[in-house]
Amino acid sequence: MHFCIVGAGFSGAVIARRLAEAGHTVLVVDERAHIAGNCHTERDAATGIMLHRYGPHIFHTADREVWDFVNRFTRMMPYVNRVKAISGGAVYSLPVNLHTINQVFGTTMGPAEARDFIAAQARRDIVEPANFEEQALSMVGERLYRAFFRGYTRKQWGLDPTELPASILKRLPLRFNYDDNYFAHPFQGMPEEGYTEIVRRILDVPGVELRLGCRFEDIGGDFAHVFYSGPLDRFFGYRLGRLGYRTLDFEEIRAEGDFQGTAVLNYCDEAVPWTRISEHKHFAPWEAGRFDGTVCFREYSRLCGAADIPYYPIRLVGEKRMLSDYVALARQARNVSFVGRLGTYRYLDMDVTIREAMDAAGMTLARLREGLAP
Ligand code: FAD
Ligand code: UDP
Repeated sequence: MHFCIVGAGFSGAVIARRLAEAGHTVLVVDERAHIAGNCHTERDAATGIMLHRYGPHIFHTADREVWDFVNRFTRMMPYVNRVKAISGGAVYSLPVNLHTINQVFGTTMGPAEARDFIAAQARRDIVEPANFEEQALSMVGERLYRAFFRGYTRKQWGLDPTELPASILKRLPLRFNYDDNYFAHPFQGMPEEGYTEIVRRILDVPGVELRLGCRFEDIGGDFAHVFYSGPLDRFFGYRLGRLGYRTLDFEEIRAEGDFQGTAVLNYCDEAVPWTRISEHKHFAPWEAGRFDGTVCFREYSRLCGAADIPYYPIRLVGEKRMLSDYVALARQARNVSFVGRLGTYRYLDMDVTIREAMDAAGMTLARLREGLAP
């Protein structure tokens, strides 16, 4: 059968490979001039440093099958994401751990003492946090909330934390030991030759035809089924309105040597307009010493306009209502599956994206084996 896949990010590439391996032909289109979607990496022409073009990407997962899958296409180099944060003129360790707590309060507490101390700081009257602020206050109390979360979150989302869902903060751990690994997953690493090289290898299989610089809206063709990883609202011509996104602007900093001494430095004070600075050569510690120069991206978040790249789905009440109306339209659409970050309007990490793409292809292949339509 002949399939069309819209988008050459992880979603599209994984589905294309699975279908092609099962003997089908697949046309993959992407309107950008490169593959790998927002995970795109490329070496900087001037310095040779591997740049994460659309912001820092660290691979982490608890899904053994997904980890084995990516390791088929690259060597995953050891990498642990250790984030530092500037707040009120001092540098701290994130996610909030025993070091952070002792730094902020000027103490030398041990784990049990710190747990009791933070419990006493936390708002015990908030039993079921209704929003981001309540979640933070019930978890870490006023002082840590103000130091690390309030200002950063207002910059990142352009909203007051009382308007945001509690789930956004639940992504971050709180630790009463000195473990400063930003992620809690058992598998973590950085691809030796970048993410774009993984996607290139995933797509490098007989039966896959790739067309870059090509919009789905501009192609014709008779396809047994379309897997669409573009924006859901765009597929329907925005007829119910636009789903809200945050977009990012990156301001490039070039310097000699080492600019900030680490890969990611968050700026938690609201008075500083950017949210974080990423220094890309530190994402490849195994290449340390190879480059004289350095390249950093200063990151600014703002509301996504019609001509901007959508990054973070906002998912407030208004968007959720619009989303369910679009989902109803999507269910009626014949021969189309909506996949990935944009197709399902959800914040998906790479590992979940790959898992869901494997499952989507698997379900289609299972239907075909049963003699059903894809
Ligand atoms: P995308 O990568 O967005 O690919 C979709 C593709 O479809 C795009 O290339 C687009 O050009 C194309 N397209 C859309 N519409 C059309 C059309 N009509 N015609 C043709 N082409 C079209 N995840 C992690 O696991 N770890 C991280 O550290 C991490 N950091 C992140 C940092 C930032 C700043 C952001 C925004 C995300 C981060 N993520 C991270 C999430 C990660 O980027 C996503 O999981 C991943 O990109 C999703 O892949 P996708 O294929 O669904 O979508
Ligand atoms: N956050 C914060 N301060 C920080 C880091 C994160 O307030 O220093 C909040 C912010 O609202 C962010 C959320 O926690 O959107 C989740 O953080 P994560 O690091 O997962 O953000 P992402 O990688 O998605 O940008």
